[in-house]
Amino acid sequence: MALEKVVIIGSGPAGWSAAIYASRAQLNPLVFEGAITEENRLSGTLPLGQLALTTEVENYAGYPAGNLEQFLTDALPGNRAEPLLYAMRSRRKAMGDHAHKEAVTGPELMELMRQQSLNFGTRIETDDVVKVDFSKRPFKLWTLEGKELEAQTVIVATGARANYLGLPSEEAFKNRGVSACAVCDGALPRFRNKPLVVVGGGDSAVEEATYLTKFASTVHLIHRRDELRASKIMAERATSSDKIEIHWNSAVDEVLGNDKEGVTGVKLVDTEGHGTKQLDCSGVFLAIGHTPNTKFLNGQLQTNDKGYVVWKESFRTVTSVPGVFAAGDVADDYYRQAITSAGTGCMAALDAERFLTHHGEV
Ligand code: NAP
Repeated sequence: MALEKVVIIGSGPAGWSAAIYASRAQLNPLVFEGAITEENRLSGTLPLGQLALTTEVENYAGYPAGNLEQFLTDALPGNRAEPLLYAMRSRRKAMGDHAHKEAVTGPELMELMRQQSLNFGTRIETDDVVKVDFSKRPFKLWTLEGKELEAQTVIVATGARANYLGLPSEEAFKNRGVSACAVCDGALPRFRNKPLVVVGGGDSAVEEATYLTKFASTVHLIHRRDELRASKIMAERATSSDKIEIHWNSAVDEVLGNDKEGVTGVKLVDTEGHGTKQLDCSGVFLAIGHTPNTKFLNGQLQTNDKGYVVWKESFRTVTSVPGVFAAGDVADDYYRQAITSAGTGCMAALDAERFLTHHGEV
């Protein structure tokens, strides 16, 4: 059975940043980037993580808006660059003049990080780790394709997936007005000066609604109860904003739209049985929580009450099992940004390297 020094599970910014650091440290890391299966497509856990589901990323430091066509062509092999260039050309066609100042997109950023890790010798398997045994070192891992391997250290960077309502109409308009990340997508031209809908009643919903007031004409906050779950200070922010209109005891029953315009409205149902109503909007932002991707761990790492992997020391990526490290959204229910995720991926690789050095295993 193959014995690996560092296995990295996950292929978002945390996984690739860990791989870049581990490969530069000559630890010969192996990344499981995830399998391309229908189940992963439906649950939003295909390779390249949540960023693969977003459009422009304007807040990742180092990528001011500009024309990335030449860079993508140079940096990536043709078969990886071509789908991105095709998408870029389609966007340009649809957007006209905006095109030359567009930011890097989530898929572009992830492909560039993936390639950067390959350039330093990272090995990649397009496969899922479906089972682990962390009871003793070397750890054992099993994959969807039936492979078995052992690892001296493991970096868990499997991320989290945004929760959706589960409506067929919501699925149909994903990336065409339906989003689970206002900070990622809110400033796009399609949402400017238009009414927008945010679903949820927690801190994230209020934060997303407040953020969207910068761009929207009105933000409709749809909450299923008559009281917000958000902290008092955040709740006040929503109730005192003259741009946020709260629809209490309301649930989205259907996302309305068409092929040409994408989302055009929502049908709301009163949760107390007082009928339905329709709202016009060009975007629907879900803020109803996230679910960390930890099923394969089968309870072998300590998690918090929301199921996120716990760091056992402050500002260290160490988990409850020595030699297993966690990075990115799987261990973060608070910041959840691409750049914080990448930062913790770097930390996990450095922690793994120090662990191996300490045990005389490098
Ligand atoms: P959350 O606190 O779990 O809130 C989720 C919200 O979505 C709740 O209001 C819930 O309604 C609603 N919801 C859940 N499932 C739903 C469904 N199927 N249909 C309609 N509504 C649904 O999640 P969060 O807001 O993402 O916050 C997560 C954590 O991060 C919290 O601890 C929060 O304090 C923290 N956070 C803090 C800040 C900040 O301080 N600036 C910002 C963001 C997040 P109910 O209320 O009826 O259950």
